Amino acid sequence: MSDESPLLRSLRAAVAAAPEDVPLRLHFAELLLAEGRHDEAVGQAAAALQHAPGDPAARDLMARAMGLPTQPPPPPATAPTPPTPPTPPARTPDEPPAFDWAAAEQQVADLVGPRFTDGDDSATGTGGGMEAPLTSDGLGDPGDASAWDVDAPGAVRLADVGGMREVKERLEAAFLAPLRNPELRRLYGKSLRGGLLLYGPPGCGKTFIARAVAGELGASFLSVSLADILDMYIGTSERNVHDIFETARRQAPCVVFLDELDALGAKRSRMHHSGLRNVVNQLLTELDGVDGDRNEGVFVLAATNVPWDVDLALRRPGRLDRTLLVLPPDGPAREAILRYHLRERPIESVDLGRIVKATEDFSGADLAHLCESAAEAALLDSARTGTVRMITTKDLLRAAKELKPSSESWFASARNVAMFANDGGTYDDLLAHLKKKRKL
Ligand code: ADP
Ligand code: MG
Repeated sequence: MSDESPLLRSLRAAVAAAPEDVPLRLHFAELLLAEGRHDEAVGQAAAALQHAPGDPAARDLMARAMGLPTQPPPPPATAPTPPTPPTPPARTPDEPPAFDWAAAEQQVADLVGPRFTDGDDSATGTGGGMEAPLTSDGLGDPGDASAWDVDAPGAVRLADVGGMREVKERLEAAFLAPLRNPELRRLYGKSLRGGLLLYGPPGCGKTFIARAVAGELGASFLSVSLADILDMYIGTSERNVHDIFETARRQAPCVVFLDELDALGAKRSRMHHSGLRNVVNQLLTELDGVDGDRNEGVFVLAATNVPWDVDLALRRPGRLDRTLLVLPPDGPAREAILRYHLRERPIESVDLGRIVKATEDFSGADLAHLCESAAEAALLDSARTGTVRMITTKDLLRAAKELKPSSESWFASARNVAMFANDGGTYDDLLAHLKKKRKL
């Protein structure tokens, strides 16, 4: 390394000083690559991917540093074929090409064993069990729904939510059964109004469950994050709230899903200045349905990671008066989530049971990250050895060891609230969970 150019040397120092600066690191790696220092470039790309998992530029650089085809490779060199290389469906020219797992998997298709070791119907390798029903529709980050977009009654049902038996039972008893039964609805009239507040650590399925509830009700799904509603112009936020409910009423039956409800936080001093009070008031008006039956067929669900920051007025009877704790996925849920995130990755003989055991308290988002890290490890290894190899149980277990469940900090703050501010037993189920986990 003594012959290193001054530019490389100072870049190396800069990267060491700012290890999380991904563009800087990629720039450095690019220069290494230009100098033919492939191995070092691979290392830098891998480090970049650790800071920015899935970053397309980093993946592209990694593939180039490894000498892997960054475009899907031409068919195995047999008879020369006319110039119609199998291009993937929709890649725009400026989108950086990523490592083509599918093509790599095809190359080694004859050499590898079954995808999973456990389970009875999974040995086919194309996915039985929970893999099939978990559509990307249900699992994709639903944060994409633009403010007032209503999704038609969706395909996601509670059966698609892996595991979580208690949550499903509570949903059924507290929310779905009465709604499904028109007799009951008539009998109880207004008292059936009111919505459900889902709370729990981030990334554990609140949004997914809300979508599944809409599916169960055969209702459209209108998802809005409170951040979308809040507008910097005075008065506009209130109108947004009103528009949303009017849209939902026109599309009834419709689930209105208010994500990040805490954005309307109970910090009254701040609220006083920013006019949030008016937004809360407008929301209360809409929840109360102004005159009589206006909210017939409109079901309100809300979600928050910090229920203790939610304005108490929103939690009164007839409004978001029921709460549902959504905990980190249990074993069967983790298995479903893992299957989903491994569905398009080259894996071999993965013992899902062991991974499930090693990922207690991991959120859905943590599990996604885990699969990503395991894939990067296998990729890096393939680079080192020059032969593409599959992702194995070991890769996944090692990734699990290196990751800390992101819910830990949530439970730390939740613990205080549950112990010292459990007015009216709102957090009884949280307390019960903490006791069970011996965290109290
Ligand atoms: P939250 O809204 O609580 O932050 P999400 O609903 O966005 O969490 O869930 C995070 C990810 O985990 C999503 O991809 C979701 O589909 C997945 N997920 C969470 N719980 C389950 C489950 N029980 N079964 C299948 N997928 C799940
Ligand atoms: Mg969410």
